[in-house]
Amino acid sequence: MSHSQRPQPSRSHSVSHRPSSNAAIWGNPGAVNGQATVSTKPSWQQAMQSAIRSQAELRQRLNLPPAVDAHAAEDFPTLVPLELLERIRADDPSDPILRQVLATEQELEPAEGFVSDPVGDLQALSAGGLLRKYQGRALLITNGTCAVHCRYCFRREFPYTETAGVRDRYASAIEQIAADPSIDEVLLSGGDPLTLSDSLLAQLIHCIESIQHVKRIRIHTRLPIVIPQRVTDQLVEMLATSRLACWFVVHCNCVQELDQAVFAALRQLTENGIPVLNQAVLLAGVNDSTEALTELCLALVNANVQPYYLHQLDQVRGASHFLVPQSHGEAIIEELRRKLPGYAVPKFVKEVPGAPSKTPIA
Ligand SMILES: *Cc1c(COP(=O)(O)O)cnc(C)c1O
Ligand code: SF4
Repeated sequence: MSHSQRPQPSRSHSVSHRPSSNAAIWGNPGAVNGQATVSTKPSWQQAMQSAIRSQAELRQRLNLPPAVDAHAAEDFPTLVPLELLERIRADDPSDPILRQVLATEQELEPAEGFVSDPVGDLQALSAGGLLRKYQGRALLITNGTCAVHCRYCFRREFPYTETAGVRDRYASAIEQIAADPSIDEVLLSGGDPLTLSDSLLAQLIHCIESIQHVKRIRIHTRLPIVIPQRVTDQLVEMLATSRLACWFVVHCNCVQELDQAVFAALRQLTENGIPVLNQAVLLAGVNDSTEALTELCLALVNANVQPYYLHQLDQVRGASHFLVPQSHGEAIIEELRRKLPGYAVPKFVKEVPGAPSKTPIA
């Protein structure tokens, strides 16, 4: 992969459009009599619907042997969009993307200190899905849906409740934000907030915009990485023209997750004035080496994305096989500091329940 050779940004004054990419692999539903017409990628909604939802199918598509225990981790079902599947090497059980999404029997092994709510979210959660842990910032759990199920997810056991009516789904959260002038930033999280439709997001953001003391909105999402066509023109236009400063925090753990379509989606954000940060989780067998993190961080900064946080794994039940000793993480960060520009080195942090911010390590 040659991340440095991205095309020059176009200098358009309106919302810039990403170039079509990878169109050929999506087949060509518009072809008539074998004649190629304009090929189309599935919409992001179609991509979510056609995602792989069984471990058996995932194994079969990647030419891997069937699972020993096909019921492993049934309570957090397999979910892998085809867009991400394409970036996984077949025949390779150690592929770093595969490790993040393939359920294994290891998830069922009890491990001391690995619990249901490792970061104390439930204590900080108010009615309406608002999490207030840090000064000035309120985090809204917009919904419980994701585009991919990451086996290490610290919210894999989160008791999402989706209240019925769309109209007043967020009414209580909005009221609480409006009542507290100390909140100047609202984080949208989930699940994944970008699994909401553009129109529902627009309604939500307009509600937040109407609260004068809120200055910034931050969208925590993995969708631009796993289904990059989620970054629609309509979405970018809405965010870029908002009164609120809008920041993105995407979630990418290894360089293999970044392909041309992802770069194009990220560029659409940055070229329209939306800063993009990345957070990663330090994961055994995925990115627990200086080489893996160097490649990731360089690919990100070359795409104008700043490596923001590297999280020490939250000790959620079922994820113990992903744990990297903290001292190993510290050693990697030390080497990154020596090799990379300062802005390319993420902050290595862990989440300590009750602490007033993410807790820096070393
Ligand atoms: C991580 C987190 C934030 C954001 O923290 P930053 O350090 O500003 O990125 C805000 N609220 C909650 C509940 C969080 O877990
Ligand atoms: S996308 Fe984020 S919230 Fe969803 S499963 Fe993955 S880590 Fe968890």
